[in-house]
Order: sequence, then structure tokens, then C-alpha cells
Amino acid sequence: MAFKDESKPSGPVTLANGATVAVDRDLCIGCGGCTAIASNTFGLDGEGKSTILSSADADSKEAIESAKNGCPVGAISVN
Ligand code: SF4
Repeated sequence: MAFKDESKPSGPVTLANGATVAVDRDLCIGCGGCTAIASNTFGLDGEGKSTILSSADADSKEAIESAKNGCPVGAISVN
């Protein structure tokens, strides 16, 4: 799996649409919800934590916002 920023797999990283996305790894429970809603943006790593993928620019900002809103523990931030 290729991360958008290899030095910060879970962000924060700024996408081409100007949004800065991050996952709080301490909160993430690895449910996979975000990876289903915005599959180009989010992927689970070997620790079962959500990360920001190199393909993130292929998802719409709306899809990423939906993933954020669907996270059961509020681990995703989009600014
Ligand atoms: S939806 Fe939230 S808890 Fe589930 S994998 Fe994504 S960031 Fe983690």
C-alpha cells in the first residue's frame, strides 16, 4: 500500500482539492467504514489503522466528508 505521505501514513496530508485529512490512530478502531466509503483515500495498514493513500486525489471531497461523518469514533478530520 502506498501512502500519500510516507512519513505520515495517517496524515495530516493536504489533497489536491485543498482539504487536509488526518486520522487519529489512537481513536481508530479499524472498522473499515471509511475504506468502503472513500476507497481511494483510506486504507487499513498492518496495525488495522486507517491511513491516507497515494490515490486520495481520486475521491471527491464529498466522499471524504461522508467517510468522516460515518466514522463511529470520530477519528477522521477534514479541514
Ligand atoms: S471509519 Fe473511523 S474507526 Fe473505522 S477504520 Fe475509518 S477511521 Fe478507523
